[in-house]
Amino acid sequence: MNKLRSFPQINTLIKDENLKAYPFYIKAFFCKKVVNQYKTSLIHKEFSKETLLLQIKHEIDTFYRKDFQSVINASGVVIHTNLGRSVIDKTIYEACKETLCNYSNIEFDLQTGKRGSRYALVLEKLKMLFGCEDALVVNNNAAAVFLVLHSLCFNKQIISSRGELVEIGGNFRMPEVIKAAGVKLCEVGTSNKTHLKDYAQAINENTALILKTHKSNFALKGFHSEVSIKDLHLLAQEKGILSYYDLGSGWCENLNKKLIKNEPKIKTIIQQCDILSFSADKLFGSVQAGIILGKKELIEKLKQNQLLRMLRVDKLTLCFLNESLKAYLEKNYDKITTLKLLNQDLATIKEKALNTQKKLKFQSTLKTSKSLVGGGSMPDKSLDTFILSFKGNALKLQEQFRAKNIIGRIQNDEFVLDFRTIKENDLEKLIHTINQMESL
Ligand SMILES: *Cc1c(COP(=O)(O)O)cnc(C)c1O
Repeated sequence: MNKLRSFPQINTLIKDENLKAYPFYIKAFFCKKVVNQYKTSLIHKEFSKETLLLQIKHEIDTFYRKDFQSVINASGVVIHTNLGRSVIDKTIYEACKETLCNYSNIEFDLQTGKRGSRYALVLEKLKMLFGCEDALVVNNNAAAVFLVLHSLCFNKQIISSRGELVEIGGNFRMPEVIKAAGVKLCEVGTSNKTHLKDYAQAINENTALILKTHKSNFALKGFHSEVSIKDLHLLAQEKGILSYYDLGSGWCENLNKKLIKNEPKIKTIIQQCDILSFSADKLFGSVQAGIILGKKELIEKLKQNQLLRMLRVDKLTLCFLNESLKAYLEKNYDKITTLKLLNQDLATIKEKALNTQKKLKFQSTLKTSKSLVGGGSMPDKSLDTFILSFKGNALKLQEQFRAKNIIGRIQNDEFVLDFRTIKENDLEKLIHTINQMESL
């Protein structure tokens, strides 16, 4: 090795023939990074220009490999938050392309030539679909919770059951959000049981609202009880305060019959409370957004809140959401991938698994198993599925498949691919990618 006494100039490295193919900003960044690593490292005492260049090339290649890319979800978790939650159907994407790649009427009324409302088209469809007085869309459901509480209860008190003060993940804790919205929380009941009288006794002149939160990411078994939104709403009406249901996930139409028990249906709940909110990318199966439905005068207060500007959604969101809403209104449920995957019958899943098994050059075993809904939705409910399991060191296999963007899971010390979450149009790629591997 041609050892160097001092480091080459960063500029010399950037200009080197070996890095000619790479864009300037990217190679400049990694040249600096690698030289700094060598300068500060006790391990890399020896270096040559060649070793530095090799390391720089390696870092640049890794940088490109790490970029956003598609994966095959063979984990069996349908609404997988780390894999992007709900998948956008190609037809929905295609329908948005023309609008998104051009100037559009996002905030422009083509009839009057005046400024229009960016929400109008989507809100009209939400009202049509859910039969509610008014609606609003914000960045996500966390933002929706914050906006509702800040707009309707600032400096006042709200009541929530101790059993529903949930942590959703990603640092979203109900009590913290309530505090951040400038609202005082009055906790009632216990973690397993809360009664109507607990709420009733807690109401005083400073109480603005009763909050109900759907326990979307955990389930209570055994000795427990909670008060229905219907009863809470009656109590709120009697006392002249508001009722709000944070559904987290919520479903609209055409959901697998095995899943609908205990899972709030948006259309039903909106008849039983003053205001509600849910995530657009959980069971609803669209893009990331928080949807708020409710009484006209309440939504009007939300629209007047200065904070809405900070929580407002981009045209991409509105465009995709608009197409998802159209799909629901036209009963084109095939365009809602999340529903399609949840509603598959077992025979379809088995066929996908069997076809794959036949075409793979490696041995696998077909088995029945259970998939999860995921996304903090329905922790206590699983769906039957078919898996292919592979012999060998499960951890090693998981890593080997992951390197090829195939995300499987380990169960009973075996690496498996769950065919509920493998989409029809993933199959060819899946088979091809596995057959390209030299060994398992
Ligand atoms: C998921 C969830 C949220 C947060 O929704 P995001 O759209 O992820 O911001 C809030 N409340 C409940 C009950 C949830 O399940």
